[in-house]
Amino acid sequence: MDIKDILQLAKDQINKASSLEEIEKARLEFLGRKGKLTEILRGLAKMSLEQKKKIGGEANLAREDIELLLKNKAKELRAAGAEKIAETEKVDITLPGLASKIGHRHPLQLIKEKYIEIFTSFGYTLFNTPEIETEEFNFDLLNIPQNHPARDMWDTFFVKGNGYVLRTHTSPFQIHCMKKNKPPLRFFAFGRVYRYEQIDAGHSPNFYQCEGLVVDKNITLADLKGTIQEFAKQMFGHDVKSRMRQSFFPFTEPSVEVDVTCAVCGGKGCPVCKGTGWVEIIGAGMVHPNVLRNVGLNPAEWQGFAFGMGVDRICMLKYGIEDIRLLYSNNLKFLEQF
Ligand SMILES: [Zn+2]
Repeated sequence: MDIKDILQLAKDQINKASSLEEIEKARLEFLGRKGKLTEILRGLAKMSLEQKKKIGGEANLAREDIELLLKNKAKELRAAGAEKIAETEKVDITLPGLASKIGHRHPLQLIKEKYIEIFTSFGYTLFNTPEIETEEFNFDLLNIPQNHPARDMWDTFFVKGNGYVLRTHTSPFQIHCMKKNKPPLRFFAFGRVYRYEQIDAGHSPNFYQCEGLVVDKNITLADLKGTIQEFAKQMFGHDVKSRMRQSFFPFTEPSVEVDVTCAVCGGKGCPVCKGTGWVEIIGAGMVHPNVLRNVGLNPAEWQGFAFGMGVDRICMLKYGIEDIRLLYSNNLKFLEQF
């Protein structure tokens, strides 16, 4: 193959190249160590001086041509590639950015914050107590001794080991509170409680309670009534009415249940209040003399009242939620409404 043919072949191949890899392949084929033109240049050593001059000159010119062709074609391919990238990966910098989603506070958290706001404004202090309690604190010291029929009022989760339970109510807080502090006392607690219960629209094995305790001299049921009335007004609105009914709890005497006018229908009657216009939200009463004695207080000197309520229930009433399971479902469509 003479130099003219080699040059023609190189031109054809380079023109056809559609990628930088093919350009490199062509370079090796003609100018590489075993390339077609390289072999001719290598053969010069055996030639006469005259042939060396002639063929050497032609071969060098051909090499320069091929180098230039390779360079230009590579440049062309690179430009085309960049254009393609620019086309497919185009960024429109005038488009608005993606807005970050702002989180929502969980409705139970909203109620908790409202509770804290209300009771701190009443002069109460938040008191934290454990979720795993001894049976002594959860029951015995609250005047619910072993084998007392009232113990069946709480469907209890027992913790493996001796005498521990998942607290069935926040009431053990009263005992911790009275053991740790000297009266007068004005405290409240907020937290998770556990009951061995079937899950349905109104029940969950885990829910929240809020509880309050006041111990002082000359405390009467009238103080409890005033406190709860004011609480209900601040939680549900100023037109809410409350009423007390006699009830029974082992750790209070007398015991009452407090109803408020239904926040969903305003007292007219609806499915939430079963048509009565009233919903029960609070269990309360005067601290039982036995409970005071159990923590070393003299009932002749000190009196107190205590009240407890289901936070989930209050949350459902306040926001008109019909199924407690929604509060524990992590359903964003539900949560984003708050
Ligand atoms: Zn109602």
